[in-house]
Amino acid sequence: MQKNHYNTIIVGGGIAGLTAAAYVARDNKQVLLIEKNKECGGLVNSFKHKGFQFEAGVRALEDAGIIIPMLQDLGIELEFKKSPVTVGIGKDVLHIKDKNSLNDYGSLLKKHYPESEDEIDEIIKIIRKIMKHMDVLYGVANPFFKYLKKDFKFIFTELLPWLPKFAFTIGKINKINMPVEDYLETVISNQSLRDIISQHFFRQTPTFFALSYFSLYLDYQYPVKGVGSLADAVYEKVLDLGGEVKTETIITQVNASEQWVKDEQNNIYYYDNLIWAADLKYFYSNTDIKGLSADIQSKFNAEKTQMLSKRGGDSVYSLFIEVDEPLESFEKITSGHFFYSPSSKGLGTLHTSDLTQLIQNWDNISKKELYDWLDKFTELNTYEISIPGLKNADFVPQGKTGIIISFLTDYDLFQKLKEKNWYEEFRKELEARIVNVITNSIYPMLKEKLMDSFSFTPLSIHNRVGSSEGAIVGWSFQESVPVPNKIQDTQKSVVSSIPNIFKAGQWTYSPAGVPMSILTGKLAADKVCKL
Ligand SMILES: Cc1cc2nc3c(=O)[nH]c(=O)nc-3n(C[C@H](O)[C@H](O)[C@H](O)COP(=O)(O)OP(=O)(O)OC[C@H]3O[C@@H](n4cnc5c(N)ncnc54)[C@H](O)[C@@H]3O)c2cc1C
Repeated sequence: MQKNHYNTIIVGGGIAGLTAAAYVARDNKQVLLIEKNKECGGLVNSFKHKGFQFEAGVRALEDAGIIIPMLQDLGIELEFKKSPVTVGIGKDVLHIKDKNSLNDYGSLLKKHYPESEDEIDEIIKIIRKIMKHMDVLYGVANPFFKYLKKDFKFIFTELLPWLPKFAFTIGKINKINMPVEDYLETVISNQSLRDIISQHFFRQTPTFFALSYFSLYLDYQYPVKGVGSLADAVYEKVLDLGGEVKTETIITQVNASEQWVKDEQNNIYYYDNLIWAADLKYFYSNTDIKGLSADIQSKFNAEKTQMLSKRGGDSVYSLFIEVDEPLESFEKITSGHFFYSPSSKGLGTLHTSDLTQLIQNWDNISKKELYDWLDKFTELNTYEISIPGLKNADFVPQGKTGIIISFLTDYDLFQKLKEKNWYEEFRKELEARIVNVITNSIYPMLKEKLMDSFSFTPLSIHNRVGSSEGAIVGWSFQESVPVPNKIQDTQKSVVSSIPNIFKAGQWTYSPAGVPMSILTGKLAADKVCKL
């Protein structure tokens, strides 16, 4: 074999590509993983800044019956601890301890919306039902990570008794796939209450996925060395198993008939199989299919048209803050993973039609109008607040605290700001407003003790991992998704119209996230290993 010819090339060293690489390498196949950045991990990443450790991507991990089984299956030891979640509205906080905390969540809502008691009871009942479905879904370790030919005990004592319950649950879940905003309208008449329940989800998230979040709150785990240590551990495993990894290399072209990929320096790498574990719009735009059969070309072109007509989903804005105040001061108020709405009023149409109007009238918008909108948007939003030092005190210098405050947001707004040269100023204005809102509501010491701050916008995400529209979990839920979206179709999601090209990661299946990215990485590797 030539030096630059591999059984399998994987493009994209996020958690999906890493998982795929580990499994292909374990099958003794010559594998090359190619990653654009200096480090692998993609949106599973921790970084250090002036003695503080932060998460650049996902803040904690939901096992979902996938992450731990994958690690065990690959023989990777990684220490986790629970990442307890706090939910808050205004001055009220609720520490989620167990399933019974759902009742306390109901009481918290009733305190803020006393006129909606019956509707709150109803929605709590629905969430409880969904939690039961989640118990079934995640009831056994995902069978794709078990060696079924040998593990008879697992098959007979766990898998077979679970399958009928699973089939029943899938039927139920598939029925509650409508956008959560629409579903909530059928149960709750008060818009503010609907907003507070749903505004921290991606817009138009399928109901089942959104309302399963209470279960997910109880499932959050944190690797004690930081979320990025998950990617680091899988990366080490790839190398241990004899896989090759090439970082700081951007693939710019795929030639499907000659079976090679080309990087920015025009280096060519040949493959027998390709697993694409990065943005799919980029893949379909940069893949040359000349020379393939007419049938494959026509199927590929149909897929391409579909993919290119769709958008990535919501992105995220994250503010990183370093404070001269000990962890204990924050620990008295919340846990290290906090979903917080400073106001119970809710965003209303601020993040939907108002924002669309703002963007549509962009050329005529004054700064005053923009900042008036921003005042309300920051006051009424829901924030995901993470304090990594409360999970591992080694992540901060003595007596100090690092905080990440983030919210879901729209790529187009930041793109427009950039075009108008308002981007840097807006970023500062946004940072200042968030600090004010959070200081005036939940962490009173924040502003006075602030030492340093910086932020990542949707444009930063797009630049770092190359995801369309800075999306953080793949396709937008605001239109039909161009990939499988039913659990029973997961295996199909990794197949493409080209027989030796497979797909993995957050763009292959919807809804996605870390567990699904890992699962599709494994399934794509399985396809390659069976060939
Ligand atoms: C703030 C935040 C919070 C989140 N919260 C959650 C959560 O609570 N739960 C959850 O499940 N998920 C969450 N996610 C989403 C989750 O992190 C991602 O869905 C998942 O990590 C995606 O993994 P991936 O490997 O598919 O893609 P990525 O991580 O995007 O990896 C793709 C990799 O491909 C590389 N690449 C791209 N193009 C090229 C190219 N042309 N050549 C070479 N390399 C290329 C990129 O640099 C990147 O490393 C969150 C994400 C963020 C940012």
